[in-house]
Amino acid sequence: MRILLANPRGFCAGVHMAIDVVDQLLDLLPGEPIYVFHEIVHNKHVVERFRERDVTFVEDVNEAPEGSIIVFSAHGVSPAVREIARARRLTSIDATCPLVTKVHAEAIRYARQGYQILLIGHVNHQEVAGTRGEAPDAIQVVETTADIPKLFIKDADKLVYLTQTTLSTDDAEVIISALQEVFPNIKAPPSSDICYATTNRQRAVRQIAPECDLVLVVGSKNSSNSLRLTELSESEGTPGKLVDDVSEVDHSWFPTGEETVLVTAGASAPEYLVAELCRTLLDRHGGTIELRDVVHEDTYFDMPKTLKVMMRAKGMDPKERQIRITSPVVTAELYGAAPLTIGASG
Ligand code: SF4
Repeated sequence: MRILLANPRGFCAGVHMAIDVVDQLLDLLPGEPIYVFHEIVHNKHVVERFRERDVTFVEDVNEAPEGSIIVFSAHGVSPAVREIARARRLTSIDATCPLVTKVHAEAIRYARQGYQILLIGHVNHQEVAGTRGEAPDAIQVVETTADIPKLFIKDADKLVYLTQTTLSTDDAEVIISALQEVFPNIKAPPSSDICYATTNRQRAVRQIAPECDLVLVVGSKNSSNSLRLTELSESEGTPGKLVDDVSEVDHSWFPTGEETVLVTAGASAPEYLVAELCRTLLDRHGGTIELRDVVHEDTYFDMPKTLKVMMRAKGMDPKERQIRITSPVVTAELYGAAPLTIGASG
């Protein structure tokens, strides 16, 4: 088997920061109950690992006892959720990804300027619920082009579109073009709302998938950007499978055992799951791994201010504690393959 390992893959800066927030709190306040509103990131393994450490995940802020500590997940929350937390005297630690906060800020700004906002995204996604909550009277969600005729538009010259951060860049383009056709004066956000991590992971799949027999995406079923990677590989003509971990791999997907397989991971999938999957494939089928560098990432987000204040109060220096990880380290030992070649793609 020939495994092509996509770079970038897996954790993005927002996910690193959000997971680090909960890890730091567990160290800072041993034994104290910690509540997280919604899954901290959309990954089954990450959430289970925190549950084992007695973190409680809630889907309603009212479930957190008065005065307790609550972490808002990377996907962001609406002002209404923040208000409930304030009323219940919760200590809120905001682990919202700054790139989601950027979209919230755009929504607030355009709504204040009197724009109607068309938010392109998945109506039931946590992030869309949070952004929509910033200006509920001004925002309408567009999930597909079929939603366009149902929109209620007061003034077609005072319209702007924004997008969820984890959309397929290709699908978003189709919806944006359809909107521009119907509303030629619709305004675009100042820069793309689809984040760098989503864009780069999709770019790597678009570039490498055509030379593969199969694309394996490590990620959970509720992870928007992981699902988009699987769909993208299918649209490039290569079957794509989304697996939470190696236990979900069906070896009948490799009838000869000599296939070329692209392995990648959604932005919320931990690297150890990728390494485990590669080791298992190579143990069973033999072969090589080539690392394909498509984009180098070095984005990093600082931890939330509230957490830093809490750390200083306990005599800890946030600078010393913050973990700064960018691309995963790939070694033959970890991935179970020698020779392991490292080369640029395309
Ligand atoms: S996928 Fe993008 S928007 Fe979401 S947490 Fe990562 S960097 Fe932030």
